[in-house]
Amino acid sequence: MKVEIEVARNSTFCPGVQRAIKIVEAELSGSKKIIYTAGPIIHNPEVVKRLEFLGLRLLDPNKDQIPELHGATVIIRSHGIDLATEEKLKKGGAIVIDATCPNVKRAQEAAKALEDRGYHVIVVGSAKHPEVISIVGRLSRKATVIENPVQARKWICDNQELSKRVGIISQTTIPQDLFQSVVEAFREHQIELAVRDTRCESVSRRQNEALEMCKRVDLMIVIGGRNSSNTAKLAELCKDTGVETIHVEDPKEIERKTIAGFRRIGIIGGASTPDWQIEEGVKRIRSLAARQP
Ligand code: SF4
Repeated sequence: MKVEIEVARNSTFCPGVQRAIKIVEAELSGSKKIIYTAGPIIHNPEVVKRLEFLGLRLLDPNKDQIPELHGATVIIRSHGIDLATEEKLKKGGAIVIDATCPNVKRAQEAAKALEDRGYHVIVVGSAKHPEVISIVGRLSRKATVIENPVQARKWICDNQELSKRVGIISQTTIPQDLFQSVVEAFREHQIELAVRDTRCESVSRRQNEALEMCKRVDLMIVIGGRNSSNTAKLAELCKDTGVETIHVEDPKEIERKTIAGFRRIGIIGGASTPDWQIEEGVKRIRSLAARQP
């Protein structure tokens, strides 16, 4: 069966991930030192496995017992790290190399600047995401993480004192609609508000392209780590348009029945999806389609 495949222009590594991988590869090349990353460098298990094969070791800096780090290099991943953990690594003797994405750094700095001006900081995003942990973990006072407008309204009612003066920033990977809806929830009240939109342009471009593609295709295949929040969000956005959407971590998960009956198939990857996984996805669809009646 003839199948048309459209591959998104924005379908592989974003600039922040590209930069972090380059830093890791440069440290690994020819080095006899032990190189760790504090948590997985990016949210793509296949890429992490490849780097581990080249000698990278994974460190969980949140564990009470961290290995002897004297002289070892620890690379901070693209999502950043909280201040206490960074200090713990340095105290343990590690040489810390910062591969935090410049956009995440911008969000960290925006939050700090708002705090310094006396605002209570609200981060719109997921409290469990490492980037959000790195943002709130660099502040001196406790910040609040809010996931949606319903939570925002409840928080305002429950925190009359704190909510008088609020500074809002966004996790870099959340969709614009979500950020705006939370900001609007705050605007319903008499609150002194400072808003800093710290969403990442590269993520917005990818999300907009995915939405445009959904108008042209009848199946969207989103390739990327299941632990990658921006990839999961991309799949969710595509699904919400009503277009049949599947999210696979490995192109090998695409089966004959997955593409059966679809003539126009779109492929897009998350910010931490390498080009070889996209190419593999295209090849796999072509070969499966060729075997269809
Ligand atoms: S998605 Fe944006 S913020 Fe996140 S690592 Fe990539 S460039 Fe940086």
